[in-house]
Amino acid sequence: MARDLTPPVSLTVEGLIERWYLFGKRVLRIAATAASIGMIFAMPKIASGKYQIVPSNSPQGAGATFQAGASVTDLVVDDRVKSALDWLTKNTAWITNEQIEITEIPAPPFKEMERAAYLKKALAALGLRVRTDEVGNVIGELSGTSDKEIILITAHMDTVFPEGTDVRVRRERDLLYAPGISDNGAGLAALLGVARAMQESKIRNRRTVIFAADVGEEGEGNLRGIRKLVEQYGTKLSAVIALDGASTEYVVTQALASRRIEIALTGPGGHSWSDFGAPNPIDAMARGISRFLKTIELPGSPRTTFNIGEIEGGGSVNSIPSRAAIKVDIRSEQERDISRVESALRDAIRAGVQEEMAASNTSGMATADRPGIEMQLRLLGARPGGDLAAGSPLLQSVMDADRFLGNRSRTERSSTDANVPMSEGIPAISIGGGGNASGAHTLGEWYDRAGREMGLKRVLLTLLSAAGVEK
Ligand SMILES: [Zn+2]
Repeated sequence: MARDLTPPVSLTVEGLIERWYLFGKRVLRIAATAASIGMIFAMPKIASGKYQIVPSNSPQGAGATFQAGASVTDLVVDDRVKSALDWLTKNTAWITNEQIEITEIPAPPFKEMERAAYLKKALAALGLRVRTDEVGNVIGELSGTSDKEIILITAHMDTVFPEGTDVRVRRERDLLYAPGISDNGAGLAALLGVARAMQESKIRNRRTVIFAADVGEEGEGNLRGIRKLVEQYGTKLSAVIALDGASTEYVVTQALASRRIEIALTGPGGHSWSDFGAPNPIDAMARGISRFLKTIELPGSPRTTFNIGEIEGGGSVNSIPSRAAIKVDIRSEQERDISRVESALRDAIRAGVQEEMAASNTSGMATADRPGIEMQLRLLGARPGGDLAAGSPLLQSVMDADRFLGNRSRTERSSTDANVPMSEGIPAISIGGGGNASGAHTLGEWYDRAGREMGLKRVLLTLLSAAGVEK
């Protein structure tokens, strides 16, 4: 099925270098090489046209044409489904043990290998056909009676915690304490639990189900694992279910778009006294930031935010610095507002440089053959946005499972693995693996098993409803 190619609204121009020179009293700006386009950095194969991209904020939303494989009402009276639900009731202890085993294997950003090896073994032990792809995702395949369509259920393996973090699990009564115990120990344990429940009860799924443990969901991992999965399965993907954390209180049906950029200014530097008058990158940056903060207007809706999260530069108090840089995180419910904020920021910093150059003394070090200030932009990460189509059968499946299980949940917007399929028009949701938790991304993270059984059943019914079951 071909999709329409619509180019993204505006791209961060990765590696664009701009230089300011002083000719007498005139300031000249020259834009040099545009090394590559940011979006291509972010989504290598997808953007190169291997298959095509739908507009991420298409009015009808992702997956308007998706049909569920089975209704939850029909599923819950099927004997094998009943036995799978029953298996989950009786085996939550096995799932908790898996959660502890997994959590105690460190998985810092870009170092998921050891945890991946464990999950590969665990999925193979369930009788799935298992492989590891080139970016490090572990993929277990459960063939359906039709392999033309695929349901991907995935949980991220990486944590935000650096190497050397103590990840041993401490039990206190019903609570489990450890960094990563819920995010994403709970999601990974649910992945194994649901796969085993299906195998134990000999359920024959109609659509092929891919059980994946993916890499690079957190921070600068920039969703590289899910990007690869979506790229590999392409148009065969009917729906994606991302398991993230524990909570059963909400369903993520909207993807929060974000972009992270670095803007660096470099200059000739010099002595604070003898070179006074040479352009100063810190001064230029300060002028630019101030201009940006005074002029930027953010809409209340779609909610749009920015954060100048890091600033660095300079080397000593009596040297004119040769570098200043900021890192900025921009988020919005609408991707085009991210582009708008980014270009306003670039324009403001540019104006700040211009102002600094104009203020710099011609007797300083800026001359035609020696650049005054150079500005360079770097894309640190980009997450596409998107929305699940209103009335999507995928959301209906979760709601039906909730009704059957007596659970109440609401829809939410968040940044998860579901961002990538959603932005490509593939129906996707992110849900928790069950239980209660708090303190994600902190060393005090804890997990409570109360409610785990219900959460696991919710995942199973949603998955089976998407995949369909052979009688
Ligand atoms: Zn997570």
